[in-house]
Amino acid sequence: MSELVDNLADLTSQKDRDALERALVSTICDLLAPLSAAIYRGVGERNNQRWLTCARFGRGDLVPITDTAWASLDTLPRLTDFPQRVQAMETQQVVEQAGPPFCTVFPLDRNPDAPGVLVIASELALSPESRRLVVGVLRLYRNFQSLLDYGERDTLTELLNRKTFDGAFLKATIEQSKVSSAEQGERRHESIGSSYWLAMIDIDHFKRVNDTYGHLIGDEVLLLLARLMRACFRFHDQLYRFGGEEFVVLMRCNGEAEAALALERLRTSTASHLFPQVGHITISIGFSEVRPGDTPSGAFERADRAVYHAKEHGRNQVCSHAALIAQGKLTEQAANVGDVELF
Ligand code: GH3
Ligand code: MG
Ligand code: MG
Repeated sequence: MSELVDNLADLTSQKDRDALERALVSTICDLLAPLSAAIYRGVGERNNQRWLTCARFGRGDLVPITDTAWASLDTLPRLTDFPQRVQAMETQQVVEQAGPPFCTVFPLDRNPDAPGVLVIASELALSPESRRLVVGVLRLYRNFQSLLDYGERDTLTELLNRKTFDGAFLKATIEQSKVSSAEQGERRHESIGSSYWLAMIDIDHFKRVNDTYGHLIGDEVLLLLARLMRACFRFHDQLYRFGGEEFVVLMRCNGEAEAALALERLRTSTASHLFPQVGHITISIGFSEVRPGDTPSGAFERADRAVYHAKEHGRNQVCSHAALIAQGKLTEQAANVGDVELF
């Protein structure tokens, strides 16, 4: 009993979602001593969904292992390779696969971006008591996750809010520094995104939408734009609403052209989307590469200046800060940072 309480206390001390998933598989292993416990999530586009290993703890492992969040999709197993997991996810019921090893698949959550399952492999079938224990721990895990969501997600769009941005940005700059130093020794791995990019997205003439159709319809546009964003970006790109009609994406790409392509995809899909009552809207986007040692405000300032340029030059376009500098349309340093207008 005290072991259970200790484990649950450890589990709920986590504030970081990745750490929470690792704590969950460790807890299950401590409590049941199975062959392994693992969390898998379905990621990728509808016609090419794959299993990402978010945390797996096997007997003999010292720490849980994970796939890197930016793993190339093609290297991951297909969803259809594991029909029991799909069944658990779709029915939200526990699914058992006879063994040995026996596999018991529990639906984990209904995360709209990447629904997950917990898979426990064991030499013998799990006893009803063990199953009840896992179901209880998972209820606690979900409640705790909802609490995290409450603090970290925007209530309207369910995108991340500003609070988690600094931590994610710091991780990005550390990764970026690692890539830069590895590059000096060997050619960087081109199959994964090898640099981070920050994009700011601002709706064009959004005030008119509110003034003409009212705030509620305006809110619906924000919600629908968030959906278009989810559909346009990859599972490891982080999507934020920073309040108002300002959206931010922190993404990992192979270079500027790839980042521009993803953003252009969002711009065109927004421009062609028919928003109920409102009809068509457009967006302006500015983006910049995250640099080693960058600060959030430094990167924001660059992306923001690119948005400002887009607004000044006809809106409905994607502008790269670096390209504007190269073309002589912007200078590297703002003459006066105070002059930079935040949309
Ligand atoms: P542009 O960016 O193209 O220069 O024009 P804009 O009209 O979009 O510019 P601005 O940034 O000045 O106006 C933003 C408007 O967004 C002001 C306000 O009416 C609206 N807005 C801000 N936050 C919210 C929100 O949470 N819900 C709704 N419905 N509207 C919001
Ligand atoms: Mg605007
Ligand atoms: Mg604005």
